[in-house]
Amino acid sequence: MPASPDHDVLERFASIVGARHALRDDAAMAPYVQERRGLHPGRAAMVLRPGSVDEVCRIMALATATRTPVVPQGGNTGLVGGQVPDGSGRAIVLSLARMNRIREVDVASDIVIAEAGVVLQDLREAAADAGRLFPLSLASQGSAQVGGLLSTNAGGTAVLAHGNMRDLCLGLEVVLPTGERLDDLRKLRKDNTGYDLKQLFIGAEGTLGVITAAVLRLVPQPRGTQTAWVGVASSQAALALLQLARERAGSDLIAFELIGETALGFALAHIPGTHRPLDVMTPWSVLLDVASHQSDADAHATMEGILAEALAAGLVVDAVLPASQAQADALWRLRESLSDAQRPEGASIKHDIAVPVSRIPDFIARAAQIVEDIAPGARLACFGHMGDGNLHFNVSQPVDAEAAAFHALRGPMSDAVHALALEMEGTLSAEHGIGQLKRAALAATAPPVALMMMRKLKATFDPAGIMNPGKLL
Ligand SMILES: Cc1cc2nc3c(=O)[nH]c(=O)nc-3n(C[C@H](O)[C@H](O)[C@H](O)COP(=O)(O)OP(=O)(O)OC[C@H]3O[C@@H](n4cnc5c(N)ncnc54)[C@H](O)[C@@H]3O)c2cc1C
Repeated sequence: MPASPDHDVLERFASIVGARHALRDDAAMAPYVQERRGLHPGRAAMVLRPGSVDEVCRIMALATATRTPVVPQGGNTGLVGGQVPDGSGRAIVLSLARMNRIREVDVASDIVIAEAGVVLQDLREAAADAGRLFPLSLASQGSAQVGGLLSTNAGGTAVLAHGNMRDLCLGLEVVLPTGERLDDLRKLRKDNTGYDLKQLFIGAEGTLGVITAAVLRLVPQPRGTQTAWVGVASSQAALALLQLARERAGSDLIAFELIGETALGFALAHIPGTHRPLDVMTPWSVLLDVASHQSDADAHATMEGILAEALAAGLVVDAVLPASQAQADALWRLRESLSDAQRPEGASIKHDIAVPVSRIPDFIARAAQIVEDIAPGARLACFGHMGDGNLHFNVSQPVDAEAAAFHALRGPMSDAVHALALEMEGTLSAEHGIGQLKRAALAATAPPVALMMMRKLKATFDPAGIMNPGKLL
């Protein structure tokens, strides 16, 4: 069991980063010890904000020597409580925010080397300045940082075309719990020299080491894009539309998002400035993006072709193509507000599942029945990255129900929804990770051999058990 650091130990930590970057009073530490939804309130002995890899190495060596727990933190946008300390007040929060340099943009190799604290929005802008695209995009991109995105293997809206952080990472620089530095900042697409060590740290949620920098892939900026909002009568029709769009656009199909009418209704009711995109109301909507490396006209023609075929096949009730980038942005803002729009509707129980794409309609039908059986009248605010098989299967309390009574149903409801996803060869955490929130669920459902291997890896890299204890495993 890691120990509580005493005053002298805290002084030694503070001397590594300097007093200005060693926060100790409660008010200064407050933004680092709780996450945005207030679900996992914690306490810390200190918050350290190192400015260099060398400082991180010295902090980790001291942490292992003194058995002080360390919680790495990026933009604090994680949704499973992985980035905040527990309530014991023994841990040090290690914020990477000051390490926010872009070390190199190599256009000919299509790579960028970014430090862990670079905010995703800044990374995308730096790529754009060089005439390139860093394709990962998600609603939290104004705060989420490279280290956190890698540690949660973040996805977002363009995974369909470009993959998630694991696919976009070529090399890593990592500080191990012992303070040793793994310098693996390779720029190579091909390198078959043994174990691919970087993969251990991607998606590890800060339990094996501290990511300090990464080599990330860039892609050419498309010359044209076309967005469409499509109303469909069923999730089966949406699935057929996805197949058609893939066949016609191939890798130029960038995003394919499914949006349930209840989720859309919440956004229209609660997010100022939003408007229903179509005149008709349909049970499901699809927001899709097609890119072209030729021109806007080419992307437009591809989208028109897809929609004409889909209309002829009876897959589409109605559709609109935005006439300007501003109109397209407004449609995407609507999509990105869906999660926040659920809050004014009262208590919610959220599930971040994935199943094979072909099984999405079946999952939705069976999971909806599970929810209705457990919480009659509860409202499904379901939406997600259908092209990746990933749904945010969110449930809002019945109108006029007691929030506390609805919250009490979380255990049985989530267990049953997760069991269904697993039965359908899916996962109970597609994007957000395990953190504190799903630790028990992982332990209860992961294959015993997989759990054994994860525990052995953890013990090998972190023998003192100081790296983000109580998370993931
Ligand atoms: C509105 C909203 C929309 C979102 N949409 C999506 C989405 O579409 N797709 C998606 O995948 N996620 C999404 N997320 C989740 C979230 O943005 C991701 O989990 C993000 O990748 C976390 O980045 P961060 O910098 O905020 O990390 P944090 O929240 O600070 O940390 C996340 C985890 O990484 C660890 N960590 C952080 N930095 C390091 C480091 N340098 N080294 C080692 N470990 C580290 C932490 O200990 C923690 O376990 C969304 C979140 C919000 C709030």
